[in-house]
Amino acid sequence: TKVLLTGGSGFIAAHILEQLLAKGHSVVTTVRSEDKAAKIREAHPAQAVSGDLVVAIVPDIAKPDAFDEVVKTPGLEVVFHTASPFHYRWTDAQRDLIDPAVIGTTAILQAVARSAPTVRRVVVTSSFAAIIDEAHTADPTHTYTEASWNPVTLADIHRSRPTAYRASKTLAERAAWAFVRDPANGARFDLVTVNPPMVFGPLAPAHYVPALDAVNTSNERVVDCLRGKWRDEVPETGAAMIWVDVRDVATAHVKAGLEIPEAGGRRLFTTAGLFSHAEMASIVRRNFPEYKDLLPTEETKGGELPPENERYKFDNSATSALLKIDWIPFEKSIVDTVNSLKKVGA
Ligand code: NDP
Repeated sequence: TKVLLTGGSGFIAAHILEQLLAKGHSVVTTVRSEDKAAKIREAHPAQAVSGDLVVAIVPDIAKPDAFDEVVKTPGLEVVFHTASPFHYRWTDAQRDLIDPAVIGTTAILQAVARSAPTVRRVVVTSSFAAIIDEAHTADPTHTYTEASWNPVTLADIHRSRPTAYRASKTLAERAAWAFVRDPANGARFDLVTVNPPMVFGPLAPAHYVPALDAVNTSNERVVDCLRGKWRDEVPETGAAMIWVDVRDVATAHVKAGLEIPEAGGRRLFTTAGLFSHAEMASIVRRNFPEYKDLLPTEETKGGELPPENERYKFDNSATSALLKIDWIPFEKSIVDTVNSLKKVGA
């Protein structure tokens, strides 16, 4: 099957790309610069030569016509839209975060609706950020499910950087559902969103990451732990206290896009469950004695989960029943993450 994958240079997308190619699909992926394109081609030489991997440059996803050309690739059947900013380094939240997220999402849907009549499904990488309601993170009577929506609005983006990021994902996902539901847009495809919480896991084997400082945002906390930043006090785990392994997130995309017709119209809440920074530190301590001097001890304070009566609940049984993924456990995920980070200098 021929598919389009936006943001192929990303942490999650590199795993999606690997799984797609391994299953024999033909992939067009977009990145924003030629040097990133070259790295992806070098990593998959056989498919780059055979034409099963084509890397296209889309320099700015915040332009409404960004994807107009690439969607004209003949024979595309499924589109995966993963490209969206996930970092906390922006200077202007509207320009650097909201616009690429929201305009990028509507731009791909618009382009497919207008110029890619063979596409039957678009899978958008949304987030638990679009599910969580910041007013209820400490509320044990509140259960987040596939039906839950973050009520955040543009007016909230100056509250904090995490809030602005959550707004970017929420507004982008709302725009996606609104687009496919409005008959005036002429969408002949259906939509699936994948809504993962914190994603940990190894870098895809062929993913080019030049240095530890270039590791994606969600894995940064594993990097911090390995670099000794948690030695004296383990930081709060925070409201994002549920997680999933990147390989399972990639599998969820591939299944939702290509293997499970009845996924159409669904939001997929992909999570393996609760985690805490304290648990992460103890897994590293148990499995990697070489980091002992940089790590907190069993007695070091901080990073525990809040008690059960001071934290939200979640229920993703509908997603688990649909995808039938046997979620990778936290210890395996962290061990594999650390082994992978060692290769980029940890
Ligand atoms: P990465 O930062 O590794 O990937 C982000 C991707 O989006 C990269 O390909 C990046 O390109 C691209 N991108 C970011 N900003 C722009 C922009 N302004 N214009 C063009 N391309 C851009 O992070 P992840 O792989 O984790 O994120 C992938 C998706 O998953 C995002 O949609 C994110 O919101 C979502 N997500 C991630 C979670 C996590 O914990 N990791 C949890 C839930 C959702 P470049 O390489 O050039 O920077």
